[in-house]
Amino acid sequence: MLRFGRLLALPRQRPGLRREYAAAATGPVNIIDLPETHQMLRQTCRNFAESDLKPMAAVTDKEHRYPKEQVLKMGELGLMGIATPEENGGTGLDALAYAIAMEEISRGCASAGVILSAHNSLYLSPINAYGRPEVIDKFVRPFTSGERIGCFALSEPGNGSDAGAASTTAKLVGDEYVLNGTKAWITNGHEAEGIVVFATTDKAKKHKGISAFVVPKPTPGLSVGKKEDKLGIRGSSTTYLIFEDCRIPKGNLLGKEGEGFKIAMSTLDGGRIGIAGQAVGIGQAALDVAVEYASKREAFGAPLTKLQSIQIKLADMAVKLEASRLLMYKAALLKDAGRPYTKEAAMAKLSASEASTFIAHQSIQILGGMGYVSDMPAERHYRDARITEIYEGTSEIQRLVIAGNLLKEYDIK
Ligand SMILES: Cc1cc2nc3c(=O)[nH]c(=O)nc-3n(C[C@H](O)[C@H](O)[C@H](O)COP(=O)(O)OP(=O)(O)OC[C@H]3O[C@@H](n4cnc5c(N)ncnc54)[C@H](O)[C@@H]3O)c2cc1C
Repeated sequence: MLRFGRLLALPRQRPGLRREYAAAATGPVNIIDLPETHQMLRQTCRNFAESDLKPMAAVTDKEHRYPKEQVLKMGELGLMGIATPEENGGTGLDALAYAIAMEEISRGCASAGVILSAHNSLYLSPINAYGRPEVIDKFVRPFTSGERIGCFALSEPGNGSDAGAASTTAKLVGDEYVLNGTKAWITNGHEAEGIVVFATTDKAKKHKGISAFVVPKPTPGLSVGKKEDKLGIRGSSTTYLIFEDCRIPKGNLLGKEGEGFKIAMSTLDGGRIGIAGQAVGIGQAALDVAVEYASKREAFGAPLTKLQSIQIKLADMAVKLEASRLLMYKAALLKDAGRPYTKEAAMAKLSASEASTFIAHQSIQILGGMGYVSDMPAERHYRDARITEIYEGTSEIQRLVIAGNLLKEYDIK
């Protein structure tokens, strides 16, 4: 049975819709027909992406502009706290709903997609799961409207895939932790007013000595480095965060000392479902452009869609996309059922990210010269798709996660 709490805010425009959602929130979940609730959510997000995201996606990309207005609107729709429990001020929807929202938002604008994803699954989710009540009051409740956003700082200049090698330190001095070190590649780092930070409290214990904290921004001793000039998702900021004797209350520790690595890995499991959603959304956008262009462009006296070689490309694109979407649904449904989903989330992310790059590549090919210039969105989809193979664990790391879990299932050590 699905549980829906504070429902998406769009029903404000149609008050009866809230009751419709509630009435529809029954029945088994399957992946052939999404529950009516989720279909309504998809339509809400799709309408918003068409009206508010797609028209500004090229400018957002070109000018590296943070889409503030659109983020606020995502807040009004309940998306900036979509998976945060109602009692913590969120919308209280499930992982399947989050995946669907990620797909539709990213189909309109991949930058908005990653802002949504880093905020919900990397920032809010570990605080909801491990924060003390006073930390939730301060760092979750005011962060669900889109006015304030958060970020997740795990990677460092010296380690990304090897996250357990964190060199940022946190030392308990009286009632405060003092943080020192540099975090790299932090999505939303420029705009964020709250940061989930991973730092070692006991270096000798290696990854078991890592702890997780919430740090408000600004805080004395915390500075933000330059924004990276990226290939894609250019509307989202990516920055260094530098901690120099940065003091935070000891109550800002998430969970217990030494639980940070576990918190990071479980957060990334959930996050990978969102990145799969982002990749599927970008792939869908690239397929949309290819089909539309091919149906209008004529070569040798007929539209491109009449050419079998183009049809074969479109078929390959559609198959990879649908397979990835189903893997994403499966991972989300397992998470919602409270069952293990680490392997399936890695499979969904791996499949969707590689599919998205493939589809965006083929989309450019179908558009020919028009695929290579910024007058058409195909080249942006290609640049945006590429990051999904890198962040929240590269494709190589996903394969290691999948193989590790697979071998365990065969009882092979
Ligand atoms: C735009 C962007 C946004 C990001 N946002 C965030 C964020 O918000 N928060 C955050 O903490 N981080 C973030 N990251 C960091 C991201 O998660 C890392 O870049 C990623 O995990 C890879 O780490 P790395 O760049 O250090 O590469 P490395 O770990 O140095 O890897 C380099 C290459 O070696 C391969 N490799 C490494 N180890 C193995 C292995 N054991 N087996 C096989 N191959 C291996 C990798 O797959 C890769 O191909 C972001 C990065 C980018 C580019």
